[in-house]
Amino acid sequence: MAVTTDPFEIGRRTCEALRRLRIPPTPENYLIWYAHYSGEHPALSRIIRLLEQNGDPFDAERCRELYERFFMKSETERLLSRTVARFERIMGELEQELSRSGEENAAAGRRIEALGVELEQSEDLAAAARAVTRSLLDETRRLGENLRTLAHHLHARSLEVNELRTQLEQARREAETDPLTGLANRKGLEGRLRALGREAMETGQSYAMLVLDIDHFKKFNDTYGHKVGDAVLRTVAMVLRHHLRQDDLAARYGGEEFVVLLPNTDLDQAREIAERIRRTIGSHVLRNRGTGEEYGKVTISAGVAVYRPGERVEELFERADTALYRAKQQGRNRVVTEAELSTQGNATTSIDFGSAETRVPAREDTLAVGSGAS
Ligand code: GH3
Ligand code: MG
Ligand code: MG
Repeated sequence: MAVTTDPFEIGRRTCEALRRLRIPPTPENYLIWYAHYSGEHPALSRIIRLLEQNGDPFDAERCRELYERFFMKSETERLLSRTVARFERIMGELEQELSRSGEENAAAGRRIEALGVELEQSEDLAAAARAVTRSLLDETRRLGENLRTLAHHLHARSLEVNELRTQLEQARREAETDPLTGLANRKGLEGRLRALGREAMETGQSYAMLVLDIDHFKKFNDTYGHKVGDAVLRTVAMVLRHHLRQDDLAARYGGEEFVVLLPNTDLDQAREIAERIRRTIGSHVLRNRGTGEEYGKVTISAGVAVYRPGERVEELFERADTALYRAKQQGRNRVVTEAELSTQGNATTSIDFGSAETRVPAREDTLAVGSGAS
């Protein structure tokens, strides 16, 4: 078949193929064959041609595999799709099980009815009653077995459904986690911001936001390499976790920027927490855990603001970010709160990464940056 770029012709061939191969025309299946006929996915086309040549059936499982392999982006999406497929299978099996059990019960009912007729028409009542009793006992036993089998199946399925729930929960967590640092990612942060906004409206309880950014991190990366930079990001994440309470949230907002949410915290308390984090990070010489090589210090700057119930989250973020910008302007390695924004901050001596001393530290003065840095 000649390759075409006419979308209507590609669509026509797609529909024709789906009909010919008896594939349900779901959006996913349509996408697979549309991509195939558009010629934009040579690897996909190769597989489809091979399967067709071999006469392999394009059943639901195979189609899902193709879709997953060529059109799904993340591990989370794949996990979700597999979970939904398993859930559908379990529901199908349950339905079959219930309908089989229902049919057996109905058949037993019909047999018992027939026994009644037999009893009515019988001449030797005593003999008939004995026979009917035996038959009734048999039926009761069979029904009992039937119920036990059904209960067993239901139990097995409910275990599977529980497992699926755990998997879904895991997928949800993964979707909201930054893989490098294990902190929340932007999605996790946004979810928490929505929840805190609602809470603030309902209870009047506010929360504080810290926006933290590593100082001159580009220079650090350029000097020691991206891998060491990544290890530093993990170390900063570790320090954040160490300083936070159960209900606080730390998120990696972007490359080397972090956001921390502190429920029920006022501006002074939030500034104090930011200060502690800044001091911890800035006062330790970073050292490779494996080789002992030292990388000097990194410092961070932070902006702090408190949510005003009713305002848009963007407004809060804007204030915290402006405070961070001010901290950078004032020489970095410092914390600035929104309260200082209206006034011109008085310039103090700056402690830049570039001028950070690289003395040999005491043991407790060192932050290991993990074997990933070796
Ligand atoms: P400033 O003090 O003004 O924040 O300077 P900076 O160099 O930290 O800021 P800039 O925005 O110029 O550069 C950010 C650098 O962060 C760029 C890049 O080298 C580094 N970076 C961003 N994301 C990652 C990451 O995932 N891993 C590593 N190793 N480095 C990253
Ligand atoms: Mg930076
Ligand atoms: Mg930055």
